[in-house]
Amino acid sequence: MGRPLTGQAEGTGPAGSIFAATDRRVGILGGTFDPIHYGHLVIAEEVCEALSLDRVLFVPAAVPPHKIGLSITPAEHRAAMVELAIAGNPRFAVSRIELERDGPSYTADTLETLAGEAARQGVARDLFFILSTEALAGLSGWHDPDRILSMCRLAVVQRPGTPLPTKPELEARFGDRADRIMLVETVPLAHSASAVRARAATGRSIRYLVPPAVEAYICDHRLYRSDNSSEDCTK
Ligand code: ATP
Repeated sequence: MGRPLTGQAEGTGPAGSIFAATDRRVGILGGTFDPIHYGHLVIAEEVCEALSLDRVLFVPAAVPPHKIGLSITPAEHRAAMVELAIAGNPRFAVSRIELERDGPSYTADTLETLAGEAARQGVARDLFFILSTEALAGLSGWHDPDRILSMCRLAVVQRPGTPLPTKPELEARFGDRADRIMLVETVPLAHSASAVRARAATGRSIRYLVPPAVEAYICDHRLYRSDNSSEDCTK
């Protein structure tokens, strides 16, 4: 395996590269990560193992297209929490690619940049975009889904409440592109960022829902607290 990139953003790697040149099979987990929780980490780990990935890149969105107009925590906080959460896993890295681009954070544009990076390095690199069944259900509403499917394969994991599709269902929906979609069985965890935010807002415990370093960051920066909450989260 190549040089560890844990917690490392592009621009700080060898020759400013996002990846080690030896990274051939790369997973991409895009999200709002407001905040990152164990549900995200488990799917990344399980897809990494099931598909023998060299690297999983966590890509926090600057402006999630489906959350425009909603109140979102500043990107720097969200990215910092991702860095803390993935620290110590040599196959995980975080990318600021969407934070440094203006406008809505379209996955198709991100994949194009990552494919361009591989071309510049002169390596053949397989990209797997990791998403849940819930996200897959809304894929047709994404910006340029055909371009997405032409640049990567999808690694689809179950989100509790939305089961994995069957192969015939995928064929009915995606035709001859169904073979671009890999179904990966993972431990189903019902964690959601919105539930973490709701608990933090009222001073309820988020321990065991997020990594301890993320819990401490949320507490230190008083993220998600409702204005009138005087609960001490350090207890
Ligand atoms: P929110 O509750 O604010 O909508 P979220 O928990 O869905 O947030 P995102 O950052 O929007 O978190 O998710 C990024 C990706 O991870 C999406 O594909 C999402 O469906 C998936 N994901 C998030 N939580 C889980 C989970 N518990 N199990 C499986 N997939 C998940």
